[in-house]
Amino acid sequence: MKTTVIAIDGPAGSGKSTVSKIVAKKLGIANVDTGAMYRAITYKLLKSNISLDDLDAIKKVLDETKITFEQNENDFRMFIDGDDVSKKIRSEYISANVNIIAAIPEVRNKLREIQRSIGLKTSCVIEGRDITTVVFPDTKYKFYLDAPIEERVKRRYAELKQKGEEINFDSLKESIARRDKLDQTRGINPLRIDKDAIVINTMGLSAQQVAEKIIDYIKYIGQ
Ligand code: C5P
Repeated sequence: MKTTVIAIDGPAGSGKSTVSKIVAKKLGIANVDTGAMYRAITYKLLKSNISLDDLDAIKKVLDETKITFEQNENDFRMFIDGDDVSKKIRSEYISANVNIIAAIPEVRNKLREIQRSIGLKTSCVIEGRDITTVVFPDTKYKFYLDAPIEERVKRRYAELKQKGEEINFDSLKESIARRDKLDQTRGINPLRIDKDAIVINTMGLSAQQVAEKIIDYIKYIGQ
């Protein structure tokens, strides 16, 4: 049976994760957070204490690492070799290093294959940076979410505050701007707007409103 893949890309804080969860729930299909996969690999590689210049060592760790996830109504949980790392991968330390790991071709190849095999077996909303352009370039349902940097930082700031994390607004802004730039300028599979993607500016819209727009477009595009 052919699966339905709804691909969503966009920069940090554009609302992808929250919106994807709502869309997936409304459509009754899986939700796949590919950023969490890059974060999980980053966690494992940093913990392995190998040099990030040592490609052979990285390949060995990649070959030996089991990446899995579980999803229920409200939760997307990442496991590395059976350990639940969902909370640990959200730290600023991982955020500050994930771009370096995400620019390694071997890492991207491994995660791309995992992501493709999920989409071939399961209908899903799958979000990240290269889903519309590289992972599922043939899907009919492609979206790019965006918002001005101030708005994106405000959202992240509110999210982190709600979790009880102490964070400085300006340093968060700097870290998000730096991450966007690295994601947009890396040599391999950079973040860019696919020619067939529907671009949605999420400024001033609630996640619910963005999700509704996406569902309307999906209905409009049809099977
Ligand atoms: O979505 P999130 O902010 O958690 O993603 C963390 C990082 O993972 C991004 O900044 C990017 O470097 C990397 N990533 C990627 N390709 C994806 C998803 C995430 O390179 N498809």
